[in-house]
This record gives sequence, structure tokens and C-alpha cells, in this order.
Amino acid sequence: SMAAPALLMRVVASAYSVAEKAATIVRNVMAAGDLGIVEKTGANDLQTKADRLVQMSICASLARKFPKVTIIGEEEVSTDELTEELIEDGHCEEILKKTCPAQYTGIKEEELVIWVDPLDGTKEYTEGLLDHVTVLIGIAYGGKAIAGVINQPYYNYEAGADAVLGRTIWGVLGIGAFGFQLTEAPAGKHIIVTTRSHSSSLVNDCISALNPDSVIRVGGAGNKIIQLIEGKASAYVFASPGCKKWDTCAPEAILHAVGGKITDIHGNSFQYNKEVKHMNSAGVLATLRNYDYYASRIPNTIKQSLVP
Ligand code: AMP
Ligand code: MG
Ligand code: MG
Repeated sequence: SMAAPALLMRVVASAYSVAEKAATIVRNVMAAGDLGIVEKTGANDLQTKADRLVQMSICASLARKFPKVTIIGEEEVSTDELTEELIEDGHCEEILKKTCPAQYTGIKEEELVIWVDPLDGTKEYTEGLLDHVTVLIGIAYGGKAIAGVINQPYYNYEAGADAVLGRTIWGVLGIGAFGFQLTEAPAGKHIIVTTRSHSSSLVNDCISALNPDSVIRVGGAGNKIIQLIEGKASAYVFASPGCKKWDTCAPEAILHAVGGKITDIHGNSFQYNKEVKHMNSAGVLATLRNYDYYASRIPNTIKQSLVP
């Protein structure tokens, strides 16, 4: 008989189903019409009922199956409101059938850290830019992002009633990434994707210095990595603090699984061990291809303004 699937594959397979449940919650909260918006640090840092319910759903569902895994989620919520209907105990069979890369077969629960952004792109969610929203579950081992799930609850929402609403993208280093069509950005064009709701003069100065052919301003770190892997943009450039480890962990694993690269604006890789500070203080630079082209053109003055 077949050996039992490795822990990593069981975690990813469960995270896939947990993210699909999360997407249903995100859509149901919007459909019910009461977002329950709370300001965290200010008007551009929001939390909705969907952020809260999904945080509870993902963290409780994964903790129940994998009690010794460290799970770090963006939102602070009281588990008093946790109800059994928020728990997802399913998994994706197709993921369990994949072979775990040899270097990950011996991983124990205590060695995994799961970074959860229950709803990435909250500002855009409240403004009806629904396809900017993603649910992010990133899995780290040895301080590195090694696997991730990105669910886009409103993928296809403008494609008509016949289109299937929502999708789940997943990936593991050494296996690849699935649930989308990997596409290169147009050759010879420099298309930068960046924030739409957290701009600053530093953010804009950095983009100008790269002399892009065009700039796409959309919400969400997950959404911006999707723009890279689907060939809509050639670089994600964000010369500012603000993005956190739960924003980058799942996107990083998926981008790296298909040969891309993400770092801070200095070129430092991100660390995801449980003791690390949450803020990506020195911004984000990510590409599917031609990372060095962009990295070599970030001005020193910009770098000096962003302390890791
Ligand atoms: P954005 O590209 O603006 O959608 O940002 C990507 C992620 O980083 C989202 O989760 C944002 O909430 C977060 N983020 C970026 N900048 C800030 C900021 N200045 N304050 C709070 N969150 C931020
Ligand atoms: Mg986020
Ligand atoms: Mg969030």
C-alpha cells in the first residue's frame, strides 16, 4: 500500500479546502450587506466582519487538525464567537496525490509556521473592487515560505452568469503552482503593479525612477502576485512599510514555485519564522522574470529611506 502522505502535503490539502470555505464566508458577508467595518490604525487600515469570521474559520480549522503548528493570523478576534459552522475539515484529494519533495518529507508539526491573511485587500472589498480580494494561507519551514494557497473569491465576477465564480491557486516549492495559467508579461515592456490605497511620495518616486511603460494600481498583495504570474505586470514595486508577513508568505511560495523572486526593496529575502517581526519595513520588489533589471534600478535614495 501507499505510504501515508507527508505532513506538508496534508497541511496544503487542508489549507486548500479551508481557503474555499473562507471564500464562501467572504461572499456571504458581502451578500448579506452588513460589512461591520472597524478602523484599526486608521481609515486606510480596515477590518470587516468577513476579516473576523474568516480569521476564526481558518485558524480554528487548521489548529484542530494540526494542533502543534504555529498559526499567525492578521486579525485579533475573540474565539467566543467561534461556532461549529465556521469549521472546515475537508481537504483536496488531488494535492494529497502529489509527491512531497524529499527535503520536506520529514517535517514535523512543531516546525511549521502558517501565516494567515483572512482577507487581503479589505479596503477594496469595502469599495466594491471585489476581484482585488484574496484569502492568503502561507506555510513556512526553516524561516522560508515553502507552500501557499491563494483563493480569489470573486475571480470571474464580471464574466457573466455562466462563469464559475472564484478560484484557488496553490503551490509548493519543488512541485510547482496550480489553478491558473502561467503567462509571461509582454516582452520588452516594463509594466509595474503597485498599491492603489497606500501610496506615498516615496512609493511614487520609486516607480518614476524605474521609468515604466505603464503602472497598474490595484489592491492586495495576493492580487498583485496574481498580476505577475498571469503576465499582466512585469514587476510589483512597493517602496514603503505597510505590507506584513501574512501578505507576502503565500504569494512568495507561489511565485518562487514558478521561478519568480520576491524580496524587500534592498534585495533581502523575507523571513517567516515565528519570532520575526510582522512588518515588511523595507517594502516589496517582486517579479516573475528579470528581477535584476528592476533591483538594479531602485535608487539609493529610496533604499536609504527604508530601513529593514
Ligand atoms: P496594498 O497594495 O495597498 O493593497 O497593500 C498590500 C497589503 O499591505 C494589504 O494587506 C494592505 O492592507 C497592507 N498595507 C500596505 N500599506 C499599508 C499601510 N500603510 N497601512 C496598513 N496596511 C498596509
Ligand atoms: Mg493583506
Ligand atoms: Mg487582511
